[in-house]
Amino acid sequence: KSKERGRNAMCFFDPDMQTVVVERAALEAGLRNAIEEDQFLLHYQAQVDGDRVTGVEALVRWQHPQRGIVPPAEFIPLAEETGLILALGNRVLEIACDQLARWSARPDMACLTIAVNVSAQQFRAPDFVDKVLAVIDRTGARPDRLKLELTESVLVDNVQDITEKMDALKAKGVVFSLDDFGIGYSSLSYLKLLPLDQLKIDRSFVRDVLVDPNDAAIARTIVALAQSLGLGVLAEGVETEAQRDFLAAAGCHAYQGYYFCRPLPIDGFEAFASGLETRQCVAE
Ligand code: C2E
Ligand code: MG
Ligand code: MG
Ligand code: MG
Repeated sequence: KSKERGRNAMCFFDPDMQTVVVERAALEAGLRNAIEEDQFLLHYQAQVDGDRVTGVEALVRWQHPQRGIVPPAEFIPLAEETGLILALGNRVLEIACDQLARWSARPDMACLTIAVNVSAQQFRAPDFVDKVLAVIDRTGARPDRLKLELTESVLVDNVQDITEKMDALKAKGVVFSLDDFGIGYSSLSYLKLLPLDQLKIDRSFVRDVLVDPNDAAIARTIVALAQSLGLGVLAEGVETEAQRDFLAAAGCHAYQGYYFCRPLPIDGFEAFASGLETRQCVAE
């Protein structure tokens, strides 16, 4: 009887609500399956310094058997909620490091870095450092070609824990960038405490940098902040020459965005990069 009342009680809820729950469950099952079936791949978007390609950002895609290529916005949030981000993140790291190892054998590509997005949950895991080092070992990637992009959401944790993890990886040569900088709520004091290498100006400030004086002021301020802290700075979402010129005038010479190159499958990126002058290898 009470079961029946429970079922009837459901009718008071918006039927759309049930659709959401069902779709979510299907997506979660799909994600689990995708990890088992290895349906994830990376697209690569050039990172440019001046007029040279110095590396790429690896951006995950889900090659779905029915839906085709699914963008990360449609599955990363659920992967984070369900903890599947740990397995997914490790797989992404593996694909990226495999790619680095392949590039290391090619004189024209050996200098490129690959930036990998790391979710806060992944970074927070106690075995994060071991996992990254294990992937580097297994694949034979050069650790100094690997850049890890953290977001400000990592920075709510204990600064000493964060620093220890970063230092352990930095000792091997791994580089750190702070992604989407400026939209989070982290305290500026983290910037002086953490061993970061680069700030990435969030796309939302770059978009209207030519028309919105506030965005222009914020972009200039982030560049100045990076410079005075001795950090590199890269602007994301650069779509036009005029935006690039504004940023260059503000002192930012590293960029990523559709103006230079869209995220491309590996073949497309290699074709794009081989037509350009990539960074010259420094003898070491
Ligand atoms: P993000 O790390 O800030 O990556 C940059 C996003 O901006 C990418 O979207 C890229 O395609 C897009 N973008 C690049 N240039 C331009 C431009 O000029 N204009 C515009 N409008 N957009 C541009 P994407 O690939 O859809 O990725 C979205 C977000 O998903 C990423 O933002 C990142 O937060 C997350 N993500 C992607 N791959 C991974 C991953 O492997 N692991 C984790 N944890 N998150 C990932
Ligand atoms: Mg990123
Ligand atoms: Mg970003
Ligand atoms: Mg962004």
